[in-house]
Amino acid sequence: MNRIPIRTRYLLLFSAGALMLMLLFSAAIYGELQRLNQSISDVSQKKVHDSLVNEVISRSEVLLESLASSLSTPAKYQHLSAIDEQLKLISATPLVRQALVCDDNYEVLHDGTPGLDSFGNSVDPLLPVRISLSQAGFRVLNNQLLMNQPILHQGEQVGGVLLWLSLVPVKRSVYETEQAINTVLESAEQQFMLFLIYMVVAFGLLALILSALLSNTVTRPVQALMDYSQSLALGRWELPDILKKGDEFGRLGLSFKNMAAQIQNNVRNIETLAFNDQLTGIGNRTFFQQQISDYVTDEPDGKITLLQIDLDNFKWFNETRGFHAGDLLLKKMVAHCGKVLDEWCEQWVVKREDVHLARLGGDEFGIILLGDISRHGVHGLTENLMTVFNPAQDKAHPLHGMQASIGVAIYPLNTCNISEIQHHVSLALNEAKVRGKNRVVYFEDEMNARLQRRYELEQALLKARRQGELFMVYQPQVNISTGNVVGYEALMRWQNDKLGFVSPAEFFPIAEESPVVQELGEFVIEQVLQDIPLLCESHGHKVKVSLNVSAAQFFYHDVADLLIKGMKAHNVDPAALSVELTETALLEKDQIVLEQLSRLRSAGVAIMLDDFGTGYASLSYLKEFPITGLKVDRSYTARLCSGDPSDFALFESLLFLANNLGLSTVVEGIENEHEEQQAQLAGAKVAQGFKYAKGLPTEEQLLAIEMQISA
Ligand code: C2E
Ligand code: CA
Ligand code: CA
Repeated sequence: MNRIPIRTRYLLLFSAGALMLMLLFSAAIYGELQRLNQSISDVSQKKVHDSLVNEVISRSEVLLESLASSLSTPAKYQHLSAIDEQLKLISATPLVRQALVCDDNYEVLHDGTPGLDSFGNSVDPLLPVRISLSQAGFRVLNNQLLMNQPILHQGEQVGGVLLWLSLVPVKRSVYETEQAINTVLESAEQQFMLFLIYMVVAFGLLALILSALLSNTVTRPVQALMDYSQSLALGRWELPDILKKGDEFGRLGLSFKNMAAQIQNNVRNIETLAFNDQLTGIGNRTFFQQQISDYVTDEPDGKITLLQIDLDNFKWFNETRGFHAGDLLLKKMVAHCGKVLDEWCEQWVVKREDVHLARLGGDEFGIILLGDISRHGVHGLTENLMTVFNPAQDKAHPLHGMQASIGVAIYPLNTCNISEIQHHVSLALNEAKVRGKNRVVYFEDEMNARLQRRYELEQALLKARRQGELFMVYQPQVNISTGNVVGYEALMRWQNDKLGFVSPAEFFPIAEESPVVQELGEFVIEQVLQDIPLLCESHGHKVKVSLNVSAAQFFYHDVADLLIKGMKAHNVDPAALSVELTETALLEKDQIVLEQLSRLRSAGVAIMLDDFGTGYASLSYLKEFPITGLKVDRSYTARLCSGDPSDFALFESLLFLANNLGLSTVVEGIENEHEEQQAQLAGAKVAQGFKYAKGLPTEEQLLAIEMQISA
């Protein structure tokens, strides 16, 4: 039923209803007609019967009266022949079946029979009912009419006369009349039935026409509403004429239109929210991806150049100037980049609508260049963009002090797989960061290989500790003037069956980006605390063993707690332990780092700032954090013998600074005697490097100490 269109359903229902109504109506009329016919027939039959009987009675009364008067004298004198004559006369009259005359004693004088069969008999037994003969009267009995009349002679009753009349002819007449009436009624009924049928047909047709008309006024607008709702979905707003009237359907149509407008408005808002960056007003990451996939769908052979820009020092800017200033900076940056893009498009005759700038999140931005753009052109754009972030800009410039790194990847030059291109541009950007930031790097296939290697390392690292692939080596730190070992730096080693020896310089940066760094950190702490007593014992005096702690470790577990508890458990003197951390750990400048370092310091553990001089750490950190010493980075040591006096001066001033701040120093990377001499000349006291020894596993180190002592 639901599949039948509403219009047909409506027509069917309406017609069926009308037909049912007509049939019921006809049946009722027909029944009523039947009943009417019957009563007409009954009434007319009785009426005819009664009027005929009355007619017979009144006529017979006249006849009987004249007979009684004719019999007056014969009855008085019992003149039988005269009576007989009169009776014969009357018997010849139609309808009269018998006549009887009696005297005033109710005894039969003449009964109409030739032999006077009942002469002298009392009348009563001859009559079906008792009749008073002193008065005129009549009785209707079945098919007979019995009439009586007193016979008077000079005013005195001398007898009576009785007359039997047959009513059969009357009945016949009544029957015939009834037949005639019935025939008339039947034909009238037939005509009425015919009329009724005509009426039903006419009414049915009328009902159909009416329902069609009605359905036109009801179902057509409904259909129109249905069609309109579909056309709204297709973005066609114009109301059809049928819905332009002011009736309910018109109002409904208008509501549809308003509702659709509201929905479209909401959709637009949602789209704006979904595709736009609220802060800068440019497209967001979704928009960025959408542009790429739309273009590839429209132009399967088209070329796309992607640029990914990341501000190198936005975090620092945000922290030092506040988030509001950070937001403002991003807005200004977008405005400047937009200007650069406008100018570049003009210069390289590129349609502006083929170039999109989007904010991918935080301080990361993306640029899409659609179509064939030469390498030269892309280079021109990146150069112009880099001038926006030129740190040499005058101080008044809103982007003063900002640096950015840019990654570039080209589809389909770098990959035929469009879903990979965004990954490639991220790799290129990452490479720009790794290579020292503030530069533009184009994607190269080796980056992919590196990524693959990184993935393999990540997977293998997860199992490294459990499979016993990790161990510690100890590189001695030496007092330059005496040559005595004063301490060791604990360094991790990883030997994997498949990957071979993997340098911590390679795997630690990877580990630091995942929770596995916690596992590695715990292993180092556990192992070093276990080894310190052995190393001290073999030397016969206290040595300081330093272990490296990654910045990320502080966030994964409580390094201070682990060390303090571990020292107690292994009975290690805090004075025999020092912790090395790089500037990045301080750069995070998090309360967590500061708090843990303070606890360690309070416990008596030395805290060394590793790779000093390579990062951005400001000297104020040396005061803010509980640092006890510096490890002068190998890069300074390597330049000691460059012959450039300023390299020596720099080295010397680092040591001088540390000394003045009351910090201890360890010079890293002393590889030969010359470097050792120069370092000593500059004021270095403790040094570490291949000149003395490289890192050795505990057993070998113990053996080496033993041999040294015995030598
Ligand atoms: P680092 O903390 O600066 O460690 C010193 C690195 O310099 C060690 O490399 C050491 O073998 C190397 N080295 C020492 N003397 C010389 C020398 O005379 N010449 C040269 N060219 N190199 C020298 P290694 O062991 O490969 O470690 C590299 C980096 O990995 C370390 O740099 C440190 O940042 C990290 N690392 C190593 N072990 C650990 C660890 O247990 N925990 C953490 N968090 N990081 C570690
Ligand atoms: Ca170190
Ligand atoms: Ca170092």
